[in-house]
Amino acid sequence: MDPAILKLILQDRKMAYAVTDQNLKVVEVSGAIELFHEDRNAWLGCPLPAMVPELVGNEKALTDILAGKLPRFELAWVNRETETGAMRYLTMIDLPYRHQAGQITGLIHLMGDVTEMGRLKQKLAQQRNELRLLQEQLTRQNQELAAANAELQQLSDMKSMFVSVAAHELRTPLTSINGFVELLLDEDSGPLTGNQREYLGIVQSSAHRLLTITNNLLDVTRIETGRIELVLQPCDLPALVEATVTEFRPQLENKSQHLTLRAEASLPAALCDKTRAAQIIGNLLSNASKYTPSGGLIAINIVPAQEEGFLQVSVIDNGIGIAGEEQPKLFKRFFRAQSSALVKASGAGLGLHITRSLVELHGGRIWFESELDRGSAFHVTFPIAGQPATTLS
Ligand code: ADP
Repeated sequence: MDPAILKLILQDRKMAYAVTDQNLKVVEVSGAIELFHEDRNAWLGCPLPAMVPELVGNEKALTDILAGKLPRFELAWVNRETETGAMRYLTMIDLPYRHQAGQITGLIHLMGDVTEMGRLKQKLAQQRNELRLLQEQLTRQNQELAAANAELQQLSDMKSMFVSVAAHELRTPLTSINGFVELLLDEDSGPLTGNQREYLGIVQSSAHRLLTITNNLLDVTRIETGRIELVLQPCDLPALVEATVTEFRPQLENKSQHLTLRAEASLPAALCDKTRAAQIIGNLLSNASKYTPSGGLIAINIVPAQEEGFLQVSVIDNGIGIAGEEQPKLFKRFFRAQSSALVKASGAGLGLHITRSLVELHGGRIWFESELDRGSAFHVTFPIAGQPATTLS
């Protein structure tokens, strides 16, 4: 190769070499030698270890190469400070220099400037360290999070237990209040004056409301702690809906609301827990009545659902409706839409949350459409039991 080309390549690659004689005296230098010693001319005739202090102490390796006992000697990542105080990384390799006849006449000392790679290596090591530290931090935070979660779970369990105990304790006296008020209203213990009847009526509806809230609280804690169990059995859904509607007749009549109930003929039986299914329909019907002004219309339709294997019950009203921006929050615990305050309807915002959980426990779905001042339609589905049932005519 043309020595000029070789020199150019070595300069570009930041490499240099020095050739020595048998006595380690430098006889030839080429390449970017100034990177390794400021005075290029000082090399010639000098002993190699004098120019490369890192070789001092390694003379045995050098003489072994000269004697043909060692094929090569390498010093990697040698660092030197430059005149500007920066750190420079070098690699040095010593090889035997052979005469054309194959006999070793000296050494070739190769030097390469690998500062760039060194810096990258250092950066990599630093980043690895940082990553390790971050991982340790993450592990610590995860442990703290797990501990905080466990504590929260414990608090939540305590809260559920407290609500459950309190609700149970409230239920007993409420049931007895209801029972005795009923006895008084039946005039079993003597006739009532008009005022007494009116006041007892207020006590009765308040006690009923309290009982509903208490039962809802109990249901919520049961749902949260996974303690609701369904007794699933084939059931005649139209008959069940009709029975529920009968219970609500007085409430509907109080508000002069008109209800229509339609069931498609020859519907198969649904697979459901009768008490819980009645609670689902009752909640939807109670809401339809509460949030529909006097004289309003309510319709209940029972049809095969679009989803195969399910029956669908829709409770539709032409009441106050729910504003679009509030609709996504409707199934959240304790949520009540602003429109409900306008009609002064009582409630704690638990009914729909419970209803959705019960529907989903049955394997069904609940959804609704609503428009403010136009009305709402709530739909629930129940799985088909695969057995024929009597249908509502
Ligand atoms: P509650 O009726 O006890 O407030 P729910 O969970 O049953 O609780 O209902 C949550 C809220 O959803 C109600 O407060 C009401 O604002 C709104 N809502 C439910 N059903 C209807 C309906 N049919 N028409 C209008 N608003 C309704």
